[in-house]
Amino acid sequence: MCRQCNDSAHNPEEQSLLKERRHMLMAGAAMAAAPLLAAASPNAGAAPANAASAAPGGGGSKNAPGSGPGSGPYLARAWGVAGAGSAFAPLQIRRRALQPNDVLLEILYCGVCHSDIHTARDEWHAVMPTTYPSVPGHEVIGRVAAVGSAVSKFKVGDIGGVGCMVNSCLKCEACEGDREQNCAEGATFTYNSPDPTLGGATYGGYSDKMVVPQHFVIRIPPGADLAATAPLLCAGVTTFSPMQHWNLKSGQRVGVIGLGGLGHIAVKLAVARKAEVTVFSTTPGKLADARRLGAKEAVLWSDAEAMKRLARHFDLLISTVPQAYPMQQFINLLKLDATLVNVGAMDNLQGINGMGLVFGRNSVAGSVIGGIAETQEVIDFCTARGIKADIEMIRPDQIDMAYERVMKKDVRYRFVIDMAANKQRNI
Ligand code: NAP
Ligand code: ZN
Ligand code: ZN
Repeated sequence: MCRQCNDSAHNPEEQSLLKERRHMLMAGAAMAAAPLLAAASPNAGAAPANAASAAPGGGGSKNAPGSGPGSGPYLARAWGVAGAGSAFAPLQIRRRALQPNDVLLEILYCGVCHSDIHTARDEWHAVMPTTYPSVPGHEVIGRVAAVGSAVSKFKVGDIGGVGCMVNSCLKCEACEGDREQNCAEGATFTYNSPDPTLGGATYGGYSDKMVVPQHFVIRIPPGADLAATAPLLCAGVTTFSPMQHWNLKSGQRVGVIGLGGLGHIAVKLAVARKAEVTVFSTTPGKLADARRLGAKEAVLWSDAEAMKRLARHFDLLISTVPQAYPMQQFINLLKLDATLVNVGAMDNLQGINGMGLVFGRNSVAGSVIGGIAETQEVIDFCTARGIKADIEMIRPDQIDMAYERVMKKDVRYRFVIDMAANKQRNI
């Protein structure tokens, strides 16, 4: 029985057993990683050595005929952008040969996160400039097609998920504490991180295959709706993690600011924890949706009467808005000692007033995704309860259209790419 959500199906104690198992796996991974790191390409960080062919329309992926997927290296078919203003086009990329702890995934589905857009368009240039060509995608679900010699977590045919990270040092204090996302050496993110094996930048899930160490592959339980589970690997854990850390309890009041991909999953997760949820949206057409998703109340930012009535009302606020905006209007809604957690805007936060913080002893905090154990926990939590994203399925050749709709706040509520659709149409 979980003390946080009073639900017998959610069992954090089971998670601590998983954690012990993780430590055993980690020991194996560290041993296997040593020769890999020693042999890391001297070109690491240089031009995109892992792009086999960046030419739009570059051919399909081929492994040795008749040998099945084998142990690689592999050519993969991907969808990426050549520059900040470019449209998506097919390209061929390389995936490394299987190391002992690696898993080869044949990718089935990949969610479209707003972070993909920030990266493809180089909107985080100041802190995380984009290396081109860029292949985004970090809400990845695939079928295990081959495994390295030391893999024990998966067998061929299993379904695995990959979120925002594909490696970390696994030995620093953060990694030891199941917070690989905060790794002291910097996690290797699923896309646009320096690729220590092939050089260039890592390529994400807008592709047909991917090689990932088993520790960073999440088990997808049988019965999960695969396409609608994909978004939980980023949007799910990013909103679950603050609810865990700030200990959102049954009956507490939580506000979700911005009803998009992250926001709509935050509502579902908080409702499942039996919290009382209020959504703050800028889009009148989403208010009814917010209530359908389980929110008790849905409020337009422009509703001055509601913003006044809700002063000092919330135990926790989670902001998913992709850009900075004047935040004090929401800080004013926090109860004494309560926290507004920003998971959205990565630029300088705006309009936070010192006086406005001190009188309520309020905090403004940030949070980035969640660790691997926590990602497994949110997947298990959601599968046990039938919680999944509201999705619109697209083909790979529709990614540009999807980005435009996300930018217009017109996503209901996550686009998911059916990675097989391009093959069927031979595009
Ligand atoms: P999304 O699907 O585009 O949803 C964002 C929502 O915020 C929009 O639907 C809209 O909701 C609201 N919004 C958008 N622009 C706004 C503006 N200018 N002013 C006010 N409200 C606005 O995006 P997402 O995929 O949920 O991602 C949200 C942000 O979180 C992105 O910046 C992404 O990079 C970031 N992110 C962070 C992490 C992390 O680990 N911290 C992980 C994943 C994503 P309404 O129509 O309801 O107003
Ligand atoms: Zn994301
Ligand atoms: Zn680390």
